[in-house]
Amino acid sequence: MEGKTVFKMTPQRAAILEYLDGNTSHPSAEDIYSAIQKKYPMMSFATVYNTLEALKAKGMLWELNIDDQRKRYDPNTKLHHHLICEKCRAVVDIFKDFDLTVPADIAQGFMITGKHVEFYGLCPDCAKNG
Ligand code: ZN
Ligand code: MN
Repeated sequence: MEGKTVFKMTPQRAAILEYLDGNTSHPSAEDIYSAIQKKYPMMSFATVYNTLEALKAKGMLWELNIDDQRKRYDPNTKLHHHLICEKCRAVVDIFKDFDLTVPADIAQGFMITGKHVEFYGLCPDCAKNG
C-alpha cells in the first residue's frame, strides 16, 4: 500500500460519485459535467475532469477508450464486457461471462487469466433505423 494516501471525500467527489452510482450509460466527462452543473453550478469542467482522474487513479472508475472522440467512464469496476454501437456510441454491459478460448498458437506462450471483450456493431434502435 506504499504511496497510497487516504481518499479525501470532497463535496465534488461525493457529487460525482452520487451521479455515477448505478449509472450504466458510460458517460463522458462532458456528460457528467452537464449533469453535475444542474445541481452544482459552481463546479468547473476542470474540477469534474480532475475528480474523474483522481477516482480513476484510486480504482473507483474505469476509463473506457471505446470512443475515439471522448473518454467514457464506467463506475462498475467489476470485470465485464461491452457491446458498443458504432452509430450512436451506446455502450451496453455484459455481465455474463462466456467461454472464449484462445488457441495455444495464438496465445504465444501467454497464460491467459482474464478478458475484457468489446463487441462493435449496431444497437437495436440504430439497426432498425438503418
Ligand atoms: Zn446505436
Ligand atoms: Mn460497463
